[in-house]
Amino acid sequence: MDAYEILELQGKYLWPNHLLYYTDPLPLDHGEGMYVWDVEGNQYLDFFAGILTTSVGHKHPKVLDAAREQMEKLIHSSTLYPNEKHVRLAEKIADITPGNLQKSYFTNSGTEANENAILLARVVTGHQEVIALRHAYHGRSALAMSLTGQAAWRIGGTHAHGVKHAMAPYCYRCPLKMTYPECGVACAEDVEDVIKTQTSGKIAAVIAEPILGVGGFITPPPEYFGIVAEIAYTYGGLFIADEVQTGFGRTGTYWFGIEHWGVVPDVMTMAKGIANGFPLANTITTAEIADEMKGKGLTISTFGGNPVSCAASLATIEVLEEEANPAHVAEVGDYLHAGLKRLQEKYPMIGDVRGKGLMQGVELVNDRETKEPAADATNYVLEVARSSGLLIGKGGMYGNVLRIAPPLTATKEHVDEALEKLDRTFAIVHEMTW
Ligand code: PMP
Repeated sequence: MDAYEILELQGKYLWPNHLLYYTDPLPLDHGEGMYVWDVEGNQYLDFFAGILTTSVGHKHPKVLDAAREQMEKLIHSSTLYPNEKHVRLAEKIADITPGNLQKSYFTNSGTEANENAILLARVVTGHQEVIALRHAYHGRSALAMSLTGQAAWRIGGTHAHGVKHAMAPYCYRCPLKMTYPECGVACAEDVEDVIKTQTSGKIAAVIAEPILGVGGFITPPPEYFGIVAEIAYTYGGLFIADEVQTGFGRTGTYWFGIEHWGVVPDVMTMAKGIANGFPLANTITTAEIADEMKGKGLTISTFGGNPVSCAASLATIEVLEEEANPAHVAEVGDYLHAGLKRLQEKYPMIGDVRGKGLMQGVELVNDRETKEPAADATNYVLEVARSSGLLIGKGGMYGNVLRIAPPLTATKEHVDEALEKLDRTFAIVHEMTW
C-alpha cells in the first residue's frame, strides 16, 4: 500500500484520535538498527525510536531469534501455567532494579503497570488518595488519564476520584518563579501542601516519573525526589516511580532513572523499552509489600508476561548488557548533550537543553527573555528534520520541546549524523521564523 491508501483506510476505520506527527503523516514500512524506511523507500535516522519501544535498535537479531524460538515452542498464558521465561525475567529484573525491589506483576502496557501500582498502594496502605505531578503522563485508562497532569491528555475531562496534582519541578519555567539552588527546591514542599489542603491527610501514594517524559523531559533538581519520598512516607503513602520512559538504562549510568536521585522507590513501573517493541510491562515492588496482597484477589492477565514477550525482554536486557549498558548510554548521552548545547549557542530559539543519558529535551522559545513557547518553530523543526532524514519527537504542555531518544545502541557516529542534520534544520527554521 502507498502512503495515500494507508491514510485513507486509517481515516475510515480507526478512531480519529490518533496522535500523528507531521502535516503529511509518515507511514513506516520497515526498520533495521538505527534506521527506518517509509513506504516510499525513504530512509530516516530514528532518534525517537527509543522512547517508543526500541531500546536496542530495530530488528535486533538476538531479540528476534529469542522471540522466534519461543514462538515455535509455546505461546500460552504465564499467569495460569508457570513458565520458565516468565520467572527468569522476573529474577533478572529483580537483579537490575535498586534496593529490595523483587516481586513483579507483568502486564502489557505502561498504563496497566501504573493501574496496578496504584491498586497495590491502595490495598496495602488502606488509603485511597494519590498525589501525582502537573505535566506528568501516566497512560490512557480512566485512572491513568486522571494521574496525568496535562488536561489535553484527558479525553472527556476524565477525573478519577482521589487524585491531586502538585507542582512540577520544572526549573526552566519555575512555577514559583524562583531559581535553583537558591529556591531550596521549594516546589517539592508543594506535595505536602497539596496533601494538607486537599486530602484526608492519609495518602496511598505519590507517583512520579524521574524525568517527566511527555511533559517535555522535565528533569528535577538533585534533591527533589529525596524530599518527595519522605513526604509520601510522612503521610502514610508509598513512593512509586514511573520508569516507563526512563527505565532500562535510558538515562545512563544506572539501569533506572530514579537512581540518579539516590532514592529507592517502593514500587516501580516499566514498559516501552523492556522488550524492544514486544508488548510487555511490569510493576515491581518489595517482597514485603507484594506479600501484603496475598489472599486479596487475583493478579491475572491473559497476555501479561507471556513467554514470547518475556523471551524478547530477556534477550533485550542481555543485548543492553553487552552492547549498550548504562555506562555506554552515559557516554553517548553526554556527547549528545554537549552537541545540543553547542547548537544552543548558535541558535537563539533554543531556550533550554536538558535531560540525562539518551533522553535529551530541547525547549524552543520565541524570546529567551520572555520564554514565550515556540510551538510553531517546534513543528517546523520536526518537518524539516524529517525531510533531511531525521526523526525526532516533541512534547511539553506547550508543544515546544523537542524530544531526542535514540535506541540505546546509538554510537557517537550516529549522534554526529543527527547533530549535523539538526544544525541544518535549525539554520532553515531560524531563517523562517527569527
Ligand atoms: N507512563 C509514562 C511515563 C509514559 O510515557 C507512558 C507512555 N507514553 C505511559 C506511562 C503509558 O504507557 P502505554 O502507552 O504503554 O500504556
